[in-house]
Amino acid sequence: MISMLRITDILDKTQSYLGPEEQETIEKAYIFSASVHQGQIRLSGEPYLTHPVEVAGMLADMKLDAATIVTGLLHDTVEDTLATPDQIREAFGKEVEFLVEGLTKISKIIFGSKVEQQAENFRKMILAMSSDIRILLIRLVDRIHNMRTLEFQTPEKQKYIAEETLELYAPLANRLGINWIKVELEDLAFRYLNFEAYNEMAKRVAKRKEKREQYTEEVKNIIQKEIDQFGLKACVEGRAKHFYSIYKKMKEQHIDLDEVYDLIAFRIILDAKKEIECYEALSVVHALWKPVPGRFKDFIAMPKANNYRALHTTVIGPYGERVEIQIRSRIMHEWAEEGIAAHWRYKEGQSYKSDDDEQIKKLRELLEVQQDLKNPREFMSNLKMALFPDEVYIFTPRGDVKAFPKGATPIDFAYSIHTDVGNQCVGAKINRNIVPLKYELKNGDTVEIITQAGHHPTKDWLKYAVTSRAISKIRNWIKTEERKKSIALGKDILDKEFKKHHLKFSQIVKSDEIKKVYAEYSISTVDDLMAVVGYGKISAKRIVNKFLPEDVSKQSESTPEKEKKKTTVSSSVGISLTGIEDVMVRYARCCHPIPGDEILGYISRGRGLTVHTANCMNVEEMDTERIVDVEWNIKEKKTFPVNIRVVCTDKKGLLAEISAVISTMDVNISHAEIETRSADMQAICDFKLDVNDLQQFTQVLNAMKKLKSVISVERVRRSS
Ligand code: MN
Repeated sequence: MISMLRITDILDKTQSYLGPEEQETIEKAYIFSASVHQGQIRLSGEPYLTHPVEVAGMLADMKLDAATIVTGLLHDTVEDTLATPDQIREAFGKEVEFLVEGLTKISKIIFGSKVEQQAENFRKMILAMSSDIRILLIRLVDRIHNMRTLEFQTPEKQKYIAEETLELYAPLANRLGINWIKVELEDLAFRYLNFEAYNEMAKRVAKRKEKREQYTEEVKNIIQKEIDQFGLKACVEGRAKHFYSIYKKMKEQHIDLDEVYDLIAFRIILDAKKEIECYEALSVVHALWKPVPGRFKDFIAMPKANNYRALHTTVIGPYGERVEIQIRSRIMHEWAEEGIAAHWRYKEGQSYKSDDDEQIKKLRELLEVQQDLKNPREFMSNLKMALFPDEVYIFTPRGDVKAFPKGATPIDFAYSIHTDVGNQCVGAKINRNIVPLKYELKNGDTVEIITQAGHHPTKDWLKYAVTSRAISKIRNWIKTEERKKSIALGKDILDKEFKKHHLKFSQIVKSDEIKKVYAEYSISTVDDLMAVVGYGKISAKRIVNKFLPEDVSKQSESTPEKEKKKTTVSSSVGISLTGIEDVMVRYARCCHPIPGDEILGYISRGRGLTVHTANCMNVEEMDTERIVDVEWNIKEKKTFPVNIRVVCTDKKGLLAEISAVISTMDVNISHAEIETRSADMQAICDFKLDVNDLQQFTQVLNAMKKLKSVISVERVRRSS
């Protein structure tokens, strides 16, 4: 058994960079953790406490800040003990509570799928849920300790945890640029996932250890000598590559271990900060040994996604063997090994305050952040934006992870499953609770869709859907549905119109004649023809006329009144429009059009034609295909309702004064509502007037504006 790490060991590690108060908090966290984990035993037989202490110890080795180490000690308390988040907040503050809760959330993610795309979604989900990078750092270290003690688990658990480590956590360490964590996780996982291959490799590599070390020394010395002679300050390292990377190479290239020449990676680490020296070192190496064509990689000019920077080259070494060499500056090296963790490293107890902070400067250089960043917070948020895409990650009921743009709703999720699921969804369950369709999905939600046969989308859904797939499917459904209705309506109208002339539309449809007719309108099917008639774009009469003897059709067309005044649908209503017959006309209640207003007609199924003012707010949302031109055609005197709002100073006899003005214009007030505001002594009067037309209405408005007490008068249009 490995000797147990004690709290004093951790305090020794942190003493160099944390203040006495912070040291005390760490001790307090230790005591808290010890008391709540009391009596819990790990599978290894050790007290549970050894686990959080080991985790905190590694975090201290990484020189992370006090909150991180405290959280390391407490990370399993909320999940595995009776401790509550409230207790943690009271004892250690909001920051630690937040970090512990973040870790508790992540630990609940169950890695369900090994499919590559799914694994990537899981990775992104964990990243997105680590709203503070320290959560992820603690999680990675937690995982290292669990992997180191994996032997005590059952074989099934070993396999599952090792797979999760290899698929999720090692790539995450890599993404954050923390090489040592990635390497250790990969080798530990490799050991449990393929013990035979691991063991074989360990044996064979060990066998040649002495010979290899001799060789490593030799190559190192040659390079070091050349570099020194050139006048560059650098140290040369040579170390065996980790097993998993060798194993991957063997698999990818289908070669045996004996054929893997470059088991050792050499590194030239330059003291200088100038990049140019890296290229100078490269020229020294290439002058010494012949480079292998196509193996030079410039990660300085083009850094990797995790900001890894270095020059890589492969040369033919002293024995004709391939030698892989990496060249980097110290700063690049630090980033390559510690990545993002380097940022959280505490130096001399200082927190990151000013722009001058050496640490921030360094990181900025490392990350090549172009913008002028004012503070570390800004730096972190910029970094996060790069790391965390603008997406949310949710679980399907089967445990798969799906990514959606931020703001997505269950509607988007439903359409991502299947069009029918989308069209028929009536609601959703999030983490087993029913939510409305407009609910905004959050990271980690488990989403289940409730469908109902026969249910269908509405235009409202377009407000809540954000994915283009859902939007286009909803639009498509609405369009198809409207077309279906138009076809039915068109067919009905045509049936009737033909019947008037003792013709049967059902027979006409089969004739060749009809094809000529719709060709005239650039229409290619009978359905399309019925649809345009249904929409009111072409009148049924015009179609029927094509099938009537010349004189009959002429006669019906050349009625002088109709020629001149177009087709009056319903003279009693006072609207005329071209080409549409048998339609019920009514006035929209949202805008109350009055003669003289610019108007348009909207064909609403089942309710005939509705007349709106052209500037009605509702018109914007209307289906343009169903909007038709209409004109006023008033033959007899008739009144129309119109709403106005008058704002005036509140005084006695106000209403009498206003109504006197209105009645002298021969206008009736059908409704009045007055509200007085004591705050500014103003009265707001809403009237409904019956006017003949716009001209009369304008006269009323002008007369009212002349009243002394009137502040403003305006026509009111409701939006619905
Ligand atoms: Mn743990």
